Parts: sequence; C-alpha cells; structure tokens
Amino acid sequence: MQYESVIGLEIHAQLSTDSKMFCGCSTKFGAEPNTQTCQVCIGMPGVLPVMNKKAIEYVIKTGLAVNCRIAPYSRFARKNYFYPDLPKGYQISQYELPICEHGFVEITVDGITKKIGLTRIHLEEDAGKNIHEGAGSHSFVDLNRAGTPLMEIVSEPDIRSPQEAAEFVKKLRAIVRDIGVCDGNMEQGSLRCDANVSVRPVGQKELGTKTEIKNMNSFRFVEKALEYEIKRQIKILNEGGRIVQETRLWDSNKGITESMRSKEEAHDYRYFPEPDLVPVEVDNAWIERIKEGIEELPDERKQSLIQHGLPEHDANLLSINRSSSDLFKKTVNLGSSSKSVSNLMIGDLRRILNEENKDFDECPLGPEHLDGLLKLIENGTISGRIGKTVLEEMYKTGKHAESIVKEKGLIQVSDESEIEKVVDEILSKSPKEVERFRAGEEKLLGFFAGQIMKATKGKANPKIVNELLRKKLGN
Ligand code: ADP
Ligand code: ZN
Ligand code: MG
Repeated sequence: MQYESVIGLEIHAQLSTDSKMFCGCSTKFGAEPNTQTCQVCIGMPGVLPVMNKKAIEYVIKTGLAVNCRIAPYSRFARKNYFYPDLPKGYQISQYELPICEHGFVEITVDGITKKIGLTRIHLEEDAGKNIHEGAGSHSFVDLNRAGTPLMEIVSEPDIRSPQEAAEFVKKLRAIVRDIGVCDGNMEQGSLRCDANVSVRPVGQKELGTKTEIKNMNSFRFVEKALEYEIKRQIKILNEGGRIVQETRLWDSNKGITESMRSKEEAHDYRYFPEPDLVPVEVDNAWIERIKEGIEELPDERKQSLIQHGLPEHDANLLSINRSSSDLFKKTVNLGSSSKSVSNLMIGDLRRILNEENKDFDECPLGPEHLDGLLKLIENGTISGRIGKTVLEEMYKTGKHAESIVKEKGLIQVSDESEIEKVVDEILSKSPKEVERFRAGEEKLLGFFAGQIMKATKGKANPKIVNELLRKKLGN
C-alpha cells in the first residue's frame, strides 16, 4: 500500500514587544528567575489585565504579511487548565474570534512552489517555565516568561512531506523576522512548532487519525521528527493496527517520538470569553497604517534576485532573509558575477555559518570581502581550493582576501617549470601507479594530481598540473 502523509503545523511566536501582554513587566530573555514579574503576571487575585496595543499591532502586521483577513472585531477567551507554570489557572487566549483568519504562504521545494493555507492567527499569553535541572527532587518555577505575548499561527493540513514542513517553518520565521515582530530564535524558544501528522492511502480523500508532535526546536528536528513519525504510523497500519490519537514528544537524543498523553487524557479547557478585557475593534485606517510599515517580504526579494539573473533555486535560498539578499546584491554591484557570488554564498559561506550556528545577518563578512576573494580566484592568483582556506581565514579574522593571500604566501603557482619539477618527482616516486595508469586505470590521474597538490600545499594551478600529467603520462 502506498501512503501519503498529511501535516498541519501550529507555530508559536513570542512577540518582540518590550513589555508583556497584560502588564508592564519586561520580556527580556535570560534574566534571573522571577525578577520580571508583578501581581498581574503571577496571577494575584483582584488585579486586572491591560492590553498591550503593540502586540495586537504585531499580530495584524503578521496577518497582512501572510495574506490573512483581519477581523474587524475579535476577543480574548480564557483557556482553563492546571499546571504549575500557569499561576492564574487559566491562560488568556483567543478562541472563536481570532484576530486573523484565512491566509496563506508560498513555499518552494524541489523547484515546485505551492500555497499552504493558514487557518488562523491568534494572540495569547505565554506560560512560565518549570525547571527540573539542578532542582534535585524538587522542581522550580520561573515566571519571567509568564504573560509574554505569544502569537499562534495555525496551518491547514496542506503540507505533504517533512521537507515541506521544514520549508514552511523557515518561511514563516523569515517573514516574522523581516517585519520585526519576533526574533525567530528557535533554540531560546521564541519560535516553537507543534506538528500534527497523519497518513492515508494515496487517493483516499478522508484524513487519517493524527498525532501531534511537540518539542522540536530546530528546522532539522521538525524534519527528522516527522520522518520518524510517518514511518511509525505506516508500520502500524501495514501490520493491521490503528493509529491512536495522541500527543507525542520528540526526543532529539534518541531520534524518536514518544507518547505523552492520549486523547482521553486531553484537557477540557472550558473556554469562555475573558470578562476582564474589552473586545478588540480594528478599523481600516489602523490596518492601512500597519500595512505601510511592511517593507519587502521574502517572495518579493526572490523575484528581484531572479531578475538579477539567479536561477530559482539560488534565489529561493538567498532571499530567505534581507541580509543575505543585500550581501548578494552589493557583491554583484562590485563587479563579481551573480553565479559566482551565489555559489560562494550558498556553498562555502553558508557551510561556515551553519557550523557556527549563525544566520546571514550575523555574518561578519561584507561585500568587499566576497568580491575581493572572487576576483583573486577569477584572475588566477589563487585556486578555488585555496579560496576555501582564504574564506575561512577572512571569516575568523575579518581581514581581506588579498592581505591573507600575501601574508600566508598562498599565491597560485602557474610557472610551468616549477610545477614540472614536482610532477616529475611525484611520478618517479610512484612507478607502480604509473604502470597501472598506462594499463588503463584512468582514475589514477586524480591520485597523482592530489599528491602534487599536497606537495605544493594546494598552490599549484590545477589546470597546468593536469596538462603536465597528461603530457608526461603520454595520454
Ligand atoms: P485539534 O482539535 O486537535 O486542535 P484542529 O482541527 O484544531 O485539531 O487542527 C490542529 C492542527 O492539526 C491544524 O494545523 C490542522 O491543519 C492539523 N490537522 C487537523 N487534522 C489533521 C489530520 N487528520 N492530519 C494532519 N493534520 C491535521
Ligand atoms: Zn507583570
Ligand atoms: Mg484546535
């Protein structure tokens, strides 16, 4: 039986307002526990919440950026449950009347662009945090996060693969960062994602029973957790079993999802309209003002990069944030060709950034760095291979390519007689390989070239090395 996976995501984004949703406490991350709290956010009786207008504005801004309808009238609701990190015994959220509905974002996977529908975006307050590490047999509660404005974006079950899911999260993260409503930091938890997933036989219309996976704090984990979960569900169905609707936790160390609670244990939240807050009314003038604050979004940047002569694949990767797209354009304006800049950026530069767990907007290299490096490769001063070393050194020191090449003596050797000496030496040291090559083992050419590059510390001009080798080996 062929199965198809169906995925819907719920993304929680902490809004980057200075103060909390219903009180004046700071939302800054990393403070001493319980130092950013007041009577309102620790849930003292008799206090009243006051809405943070900026937070509402940020949700509207997000809604506009993802093609939602902005509700002229919405309201808050109480979601009731007991948990130590929720001192009031309820979370102020939104239920039947959210601020935004019916939007979509576009994602591109393997060159195919598709729309993922958004059911709704609503505003709520975050809970505190229970801390178990270092607490011995006890648990600690830190309420600094309690009351931080949190936006929940719910997608339609339009996603069909783990890769699409990761791409969707990337896109939404790019958008909220672009419009300045959330810093998108998945490790610190300012952007969190729950994934709902089911499988069904290809061709079947009805959705299968879903499970919900929590606790994935990176794009990679979203993809891995879904891959695991889809395999798990298909295996159960193939063995004649049935899927239990439940919430599962992703364990990134074990690489598996584990049951957390079943539907029977699910809470009845007893939602009802929040009596302490007035409804929210949004007029067109306000919407228009917020719209004016939205600058270029990833999709527009992508189009402008395609106009710069980039293939869609490259444009897609480089447009995901403003800094990468700016870095690209500025480097091209200095004279480097679009394709060489793009190859450098989405190849070696992105690899270095990934290793350092950094984004393009934290990249210490500017357009002059990249252009300088590319010019040295293009005019033959250094080989592409040495270029990688120079890039790493530029990244570490902030120095320009030219001075690194001079200081380290990395200039490419293109003098034939100099390279010839090394070629002769290597060939005379490897008589057996030479014999095998002459007997037809063509791939040994790579072995010889590698030895020569090693002997010249990567500085020999590869083109000349190859020419000389072919000449000497009589090929
Ligand atoms: P719940 O009642 O469990 O909250 P919802 O219908 O509100 O479920 O949907 C929550 C999320 O799960 C949404 O993102 C939605 O797209 C997704 N979803 C709903 N049903 C399925 C399904 N059968 N398979 C996969 N995802 C689903
Ligand atoms: Zn407070
Ligand atoms: Mg629901």
